[in-house]
Amino acid sequence: MNINQPAVPPLSPDLIAKFRAVVGERQALTAAEDVAPYVTEERNLFHGRTPLVLRPGSTAEVAAICKLASAHGIALVPQGGNTGLVGGQTPHNGEVVVSLKRLDRIREVDTASNTMTCEAGVVLQVAQQKAAEVDRLFPLSLGAEGSCTIGGNLSTNAGGTAALAYGVAREMALGLEVVLADGRVLNALSKLKKDNTGYDLRNLFIGAEGTLGIITAATLKLFPKPRAIETAFVGLQSPAQALKLLSIAQAEAAGSLTSFELMAEIALDFSVKHGIGVRDPLSERHPWYVLMELSSPREDARATLEAILEKGLEDGIVDDAVLADSLSQRQAFWKLRDEMSAAQKPEGGSIKHDISVPVAAVPEFIAEANAAVVKLIAGARPVPFGHLGDGNLHYNVSQPVGGDTADFMARWHEVNAVVFEIVLRMGGSISAEHGIGVLKRDELPEVKDKTAIELMRAFKALLDPLGIMNPGKVL
Ligand code: FAD
Repeated sequence: MNINQPAVPPLSPDLIAKFRAVVGERQALTAAEDVAPYVTEERNLFHGRTPLVLRPGSTAEVAAICKLASAHGIALVPQGGNTGLVGGQTPHNGEVVVSLKRLDRIREVDTASNTMTCEAGVVLQVAQQKAAEVDRLFPLSLGAEGSCTIGGNLSTNAGGTAALAYGVAREMALGLEVVLADGRVLNALSKLKKDNTGYDLRNLFIGAEGTLGIITAATLKLFPKPRAIETAFVGLQSPAQALKLLSIAQAEAAGSLTSFELMAEIALDFSVKHGIGVRDPLSERHPWYVLMELSSPREDARATLEAILEKGLEDGIVDDAVLADSLSQRQAFWKLRDEMSAAQKPEGGSIKHDISVPVAAVPEFIAEANAAVVKLIAGARPVPFGHLGDGNLHYNVSQPVGGDTADFMARWHEVNAVVFEIVLRMGGSISAEHGIGVLKRDELPEVKDKTAIELMRAFKALLDPLGIMNPGKVL
């Protein structure tokens, strides 16, 4: 995808040497083959370029990099696991990449306070495992958890599949350590739930996508580890039926309902067809599916899940359902769901949307968006799936069968405009959990409150007066 951004001036050999001196010879990458993994992302949608990738090993090194960059007006792109989906971590125009991956220490686990202090480069799955080792839960969970990092999760304010019960990344962080553009370190690694001592600075940096500073560590909340996790895969007729089932599940399970994922049949089709080892858990096909999970501190989750499904069957909401009988069956259900994004690739071009609308409006949104997209491009194949419990859908549109991929992808913004019009009319958001990056940067001023944009620009100017922090992203 072409990104309309001014190129940054070339980096002199003298400056490269100065940056190299900060991180050491081996952690300053300049050779094309070394730099390659940092300038493109998994889906190959964004391609960047950089003269230099820096891999600092401490907060002090990050601070020294920012100080030097500030003194010479050098643009920096912070990068974690490079799994972001909106081009925020890509150096589109020759900026210096600051990879946080070597900041991978878990500094402290405090089970009495139920907190864990992780450096920014700790991989999400490692944080989850560490919490499990001390009989706690770190509930953030997403398809990229094997490679995304805590710093990236907070910078994008990631959502994922457990947000229904535990909230998004923002709600899981108590404190942050952040290096500012000029190299100053904001030490706000608080463990406190209650701390009313002025403005909430932490929340400025969460979701800022690296445009206000570099997160180097975070104090995260830990939760009780569930004693029972029960998962069901359900076939039903429509998103409206799924919404009714959600209502039953929330009434029966309350806070122990941790996931409620909706999937269209075509999304399941793609996943089964293209995902390695992915199988349809039900014997017959259904127009829609729900993957529902309960996590309970007590052992009664199975009975609760059965009661939800029985009520669903009685009320004619559920057509068929299967409960996972083992960990491997549960993992198989989730694999089917997790493969849905990747499984669209072999079907040709896919125009993506990560939207949210009020939960009650999801069925109406899907009906209107499907009709509008097919009217715009005959034969286009909407592939809706996502976190129904949060009103958040990955409303992706695959190209017509046998159509020209380039022609279809050239209509990305046209399709976006049609979908976003419906989203906004319903009081929704054009970016529910993936962020703005460069992908939605140009749409943001059109859809966000004018005063909010002015304030965002004012904060940016205050914290990054030279505009060196991830320039051209978000704003
Ligand atoms: P990166 O991709 O490296 O960076 C993302 C952004 O954060 C960039 O703007 C970057 O500049 C900035 N950044 C990174 N680290 C720092 C730091 N330490 N300080 C300041 N800025 C920083 N997202 C969801 O929300 N929910 C999902 O369910 C979900 N599922 C996914 C499934 C798959 C298969 C994939 C590939 C992605 C998915 N994502 C999802 C998107 C992505 O995984 C998240 O956005 C994740 O939080 C990014 O983390 P990262 O470490 O890879 O960050």
